[in-house]
Formats: sequence, C-alpha cells, structure tokens
Amino acid sequence: MMKLLSIVVSAYNEEAGINEFYRVTREYAKYLRDKNWDYEFIFVNDGSKDATGEILLELSEKDPEHVKFISFSRNFGHEAAMIAGLDYAEGDGMVFMDADLQHPPENLEKIIDAFDSGFKVVSMVRTRNETAGIIKKITSGGFYWFINKVSDIYLEPNASDFFAITRSVQDILKKNYREKVRFLRGYVQNVGFRKTTIEYEAAPRVAGSSHYSIKKLFTFAMNTIMCFSNVPLKLGIFAGFFSGFLGMVLLIYTLCTHDGAPSGYATIVVLLCFMFAVLFIVIGIIGEYIAVLFEELKDRPLYIIEDMKNFDKENGLS
Ligand code: UDP
Ligand code: MG
Repeated sequence: MMKLLSIVVSAYNEEAGINEFYRVTREYAKYLRDKNWDYEFIFVNDGSKDATGEILLELSEKDPEHVKFISFSRNFGHEAAMIAGLDYAEGDGMVFMDADLQHPPENLEKIIDAFDSGFKVVSMVRTRNETAGIIKKITSGGFYWFINKVSDIYLEPNASDFFAITRSVQDILKKNYREKVRFLRGYVQNVGFRKTTIEYEAAPRVAGSSHYSIKKLFTFAMNTIMCFSNVPLKLGIFAGFFSGFLGMVLLIYTLCTHDGAPSGYATIVVLLCFMFAVLFIVIGIIGEYIAVLFEELKDRPLYIIEDMKNFDKENGLS
C-alpha cells in the first residue's frame, strides 16, 4: 500500500510563479514514489485578484489525480488558507508550503523520511533568509524573545509556515484548535508527539513580492501574543503596585522636605500624567483581549469556499 502525502499550498496573487512552483515541486514529489509515498497537491486560492485561480483550476483539470483545488470567496489570509488545507487533506502525512518556492521542495524527501522513522511533527527551521531585511530580522527576533518570555509554550524563533504533520496530529488540530484568532504554526509546535526539526535555507521568491506588510505583521504579532499569553492582562496589577509604590515614595519625600508648603506643581503634573498613561495602557490591553473574545463569540467561519475541484465530497463548510 502506497502512503499519501498531501502538499498544502496557499496562494494569493501568485500568477507569476505558481506554474513554476507546480512544475518544480512535482518533479521532487514524483521521486517520493520510490519510497512508497504518493502525493497530492491541495492548492488553496485565497481570493486572488489576478489569474492565480484560473491557473490553478486549469492545473486541476489537467492533472486531476494529483491536484485538488479550493477557492475562497475572498481573501481570508494565509492562516485561513492553511486551515482549509488542514481540513481537507486526506493524506497520511501533510506538508504546508508557500507558493513562491521559498520553501525548497527538495526537503520533501527528508520530510517523508522523518515520517517513516516515526516522527509525527516535522518543523522546518530556516537557517538563512536571503530576502529578510535587517528591520524584519530585529523585529522578528524581538517578537520571539517576548512571546517566549510571557507565554508558557515555546515558539521556535526560526520556524516557518513550512511544516509537516501526520494524520493523527491533523485530527487533533482539526477538532480541538478552532479558535478564530489563531496561529497554526504555534499549535503545531505545541501539540506534543514525537517531533523533529529539519533545517533549510529559505530561497528568494520565484516571482512577485511578499504580501506581508508591516501592519499585517504587527496584527499577527499581537494576535499571537494574545493567543498564547495572559501576562499582558496582569500588567495592570504590576502597574498598580508600581504606581502605589511611587506615590508612597513621593509622599514620604514631600513630608520630609517641605513643611506643608503648597509647592511641587511639577511633581503633581508628572505623577498625574504617569498614572493616566498606565491606566490607559492597561485599559487598552484589556480592550484587545475583549476584541479577541468578541471575535470568538461571533463564531464567524474561518473561511468561505466558493469552488472545489477533485474532492470526493464537495462542500463549502469551515
Ligand atoms: N498568502 C495567502 N494569503 C494572503 C497572503 C499570502 O495565501 O493573504 C500566501 C502567499 O501566496 C504565499 C504564502 O502565503 O504562498 C506566504 O506569503 P508571502 O510569500 O507573501 O510571505 P513571506 O514569505 O514574505 O513571509
Ligand atoms: Mg514568501
């Protein structure tokens, strides 16, 4: 019996490089047959505005045995696209890849080797990122330092959205991790099971440009912190203690240095500003968490599927 590897690929405005991705990746995937693994592509078109959808549809018609196609009704983001792939992949193992060849497909062989030797989670760790600028490197370093300080889980700093899991892990992620505000890569690293990491060098994009703006990355960082940590919520308590302590010190100082004279205007203003700053920051943080709660409460679908090709049962649920 051949085993099946599902290659989940999310694509948003990738018309320039998607054919090349398919061609190159398929070449590597074909060789997996020698090791008793067949392959299927699950392409998720994340509401592309260019011809990506048409190209993928065409591929699914030309190669129906190996290409499955899901198309969203609009852009739902990379996370949602990966979740859709997770929901519909039928392989014994599945690997998540970007459509721009930044995740080198020559690693597929190492991944199935890891599966065959009993690993259930394969986390691909970037050793070098040609395309990332110095600012992205610093902010990303800072982000991982922070999240690992404030949360009780560990996030691999150089892990990417390039990872592979077996069907048993898929089941758990499908059933038990349905939060709306989420970070799939983080869950994958923290479900447990036998896990290994494989290093890879990130290649430059084959065509087009990155879709992650600073704003998107910031939202992403905020969401991740709130997904995995409640420490910011407790900041209010620390801030309260700190302000109280400061007040005491100032009180003692005033009592000792002045004999009740109404001076110290600056002290009052500074203290007032400081207190209000703390108060507003804490309220802001609570607001952010309430926003997350609200998002979960609304229970909107993570994605909406408009079209599917080459699946057994075709429905658009999420
Ligand atoms: N992507 C997506 N939806 C989006 C943005 C990106 O499906 O809203 C896909 C994109 O097509 C690519 C992958 O996610 O396959 C990674 O995106 P990108 O290469 O722009 O990010 P970077 O590699 O620069 O972090
Ligand atoms: Mg990329």
